[in-house]
Amino acid sequence: MAREKILKGIAVSHGIGRGKAYIYEPGEVEILQTPILPIYLEKEIARFEEAIEKTQKELNNIKKRINQEIGEDFAQFLDAQVMMLNDKEIIERVKKEILKQKMNAGYIYNQVIKEYAQRLGASKNQYFRERVADIWDVGIRVLRNLFGLTHASIVEVPEGSILIARDISPSDAALIDPKNIKGIATEVGGRTTHTAITARALQIPAVLGVKRLLSCIEDDEKIIIDGDRGIVIKNPSPGRIRFYDEVQKKKLKLSKALSPYCELPSQTRDGKYIDISANIEFYAEYNYAKKYGAAGIGLFRTEFLYLARRGNPAEEEQFRVYNALAKSMKPQPVIIRTFDLGGDKIFSDYQEANPFLGWRAIRVCLDKPEFFKTQLRAILRASVNHNIKIMYPMIATYEEIKRANLIFEQVRKDLIKQKIDFDHQIQVGIMIETPSAALLSPQLVSQVDFFSIGSNDLTQYTLAVDRGNEKVNRLFDHYHPAVLRLINNVIHAGHEGHIWVGLCGELASDPLILPFLVGAGIDELSMAPMAIPKIKMVLRSLTVSKCEKIAHEVLKFRTALEVKKFLRRAIHKNFPGIEEVL
Ligand code: PEP
Ligand code: MG
Repeated sequence: MAREKILKGIAVSHGIGRGKAYIYEPGEVEILQTPILPIYLEKEIARFEEAIEKTQKELNNIKKRINQEIGEDFAQFLDAQVMMLNDKEIIERVKKEILKQKMNAGYIYNQVIKEYAQRLGASKNQYFRERVADIWDVGIRVLRNLFGLTHASIVEVPEGSILIARDISPSDAALIDPKNIKGIATEVGGRTTHTAITARALQIPAVLGVKRLLSCIEDDEKIIIDGDRGIVIKNPSPGRIRFYDEVQKKKLKLSKALSPYCELPSQTRDGKYIDISANIEFYAEYNYAKKYGAAGIGLFRTEFLYLARRGNPAEEEQFRVYNALAKSMKPQPVIIRTFDLGGDKIFSDYQEANPFLGWRAIRVCLDKPEFFKTQLRAILRASVNHNIKIMYPMIATYEEIKRANLIFEQVRKDLIKQKIDFDHQIQVGIMIETPSAALLSPQLVSQVDFFSIGSNDLTQYTLAVDRGNEKVNRLFDHYHPAVLRLINNVIHAGHEGHIWVGLCGELASDPLILPFLVGAGIDELSMAPMAIPKIKMVLRSLTVSKCEKIAHEVLKFRTALEVKKFLRRAIHKNFPGIEEVL
């Protein structure tokens, strides 16, 4: 019997996927050079035109699928590819060179595209440089059609497959069909790559960044993808299969038991209402927010608009997405976070020694006011008759809020001057995700309408631990008393200043910490949509009075372990019945 092997990677999309390996290796296209007899040159040109037409049809089909399944915002990078495909200069050059060099269209097209890509790559303009990947994406498609190669296609993946690849291009990632693909593993990539984003949006378990994946796995081998723990298991042993059977059975049973909670109000047993909202990255995910009973969108990570299309989205494009989302959620609120680019969400070829301590989020926006203004205009325009709020990420200083608010004021004035309507009462809040913002929260409160605690970054910056770094990520622990004290202080400062305080990091979806957060007085929690029913179920078992006592005790501990042990005991004693979902 084949030996079991476990490969480690980065967990980017939750769940357990089982199936047979489908190795996706589109590979390089071999460029053959064939002389063409003069009498066949016109025919060769016609063949080239047919290849362009066929590629256009392929791109149209991809766009249609993405629009339906993920959302229009995600399909926009294809517009750039369609434009490049139909670029008159390129097409005419290719035709002329076929006639001049009397060589086959594939050979000539490759020459022309190569030259074009080099020119784009050398451009001073970042937008043009970022288009190099697009030109190759579309160029390879045309070349495959010219050389009569079948695409080692993601579309033809058989049902029950686990997609195994070195990397997946954005246009191919967009073709992933969740009906056939039960899990994804790649050698390259992290949490914010296209593949990761697509996997999460389609709810396919995925593990990326698995070293030596392709050299370890062969077609049709049995694979389990554990998207919770970040592991890929090839040839799972009978014991392992039984283990995962049990895990899946439990998951299914739990999700059935929890499904009634989607509809129930999110309140404690003694009647305190806490908003439970959804974190989303794409417009189409609002469906999940609704399905799982969210009170609104607590965090719309708009940077994915930028990353998905690999470039700066125009005002109109942004407006369409924000407007559609707010309309679909109406009357529920949608908190639109301004671009949190930088850090691990790399958006330019600007290299930094410490990206998490570098040019990120509000820092980028304040340094590029026109870029920031475009987004603020789009958000404000979409706010008419909708319930939209704005949120700035990564605030670390008082001056940053002042400057952001100043730019916001200029945008408001411009819109008024141009007689463009917007919601004049729109709330503007900040994320509290740096220790400095948390410590300064009593001073920041007068400048904003709400705080939303970003516990992922707050933990990372408080403990000085890069959680993407496998050598130190065991030190990343949001139960650390220092993190919990900061959270408690922020909630207190918010309430003293009469504003509401939410939390939208991973901590919000952790049932064990919920008694602490409720006891500390949190007003809103925002999380991945799927986590909502579980958190509602736990919340409905708690009482504020007991949670306040628990929170008080938690703040006395010295270590994360002590906090966790205490919370387990406290839940067991005070709220029996919820231990099973911890
Ligand atoms: C956070 O830092 O907790 C947060 C919600 O923001 P992101 O995960 O997008 O950095
Ligand atoms: Mg953050």
